[in-house]
Amino acid sequence: MELKQLLDFIDWTLSQAGQGSFYRDQDMTKRIFAQSIKLNEEVWELSSEILWNQWFVRKEKLKRYSQETLMDEFADVIFTTIRLAKLMNIDISQALKNKMIKIQKRSDLK
Ligand SMILES: [Mg+2]
Repeated sequence: MELKQLLDFIDWTLSQAGQGSFYRDQDMTKRIFAQSIKLNEEVWELSSEILWNQWFVRKEKLKRYSQETLMDEFADVIFTTIRLAKLMNIDISQALKNKMIKIQKRSDLK
């Protein structure tokens, strides 16, 4: 999948947000804070899946988890991060390119 396809999908999901959604709130600070909290929620859900994946959950909780739910949570973290970047007018494509260059330069110094 191309990054453009992912970004277009994020735009589409934002266009589908209902009237009660915080994505429609007129207060941009409120929208950014809400999305930041949502990102923390998704990171927590991913962490929970990782605990399952590494067998650090009680047996009675095991049936709640699967490889599919682990994949879902990785995707949720990425989607939520991109939505937050969009709210903050961050060009995520450029941010990723810039960071890749910095990481490559760091690696070249070794
Ligand atoms: Mg989730």
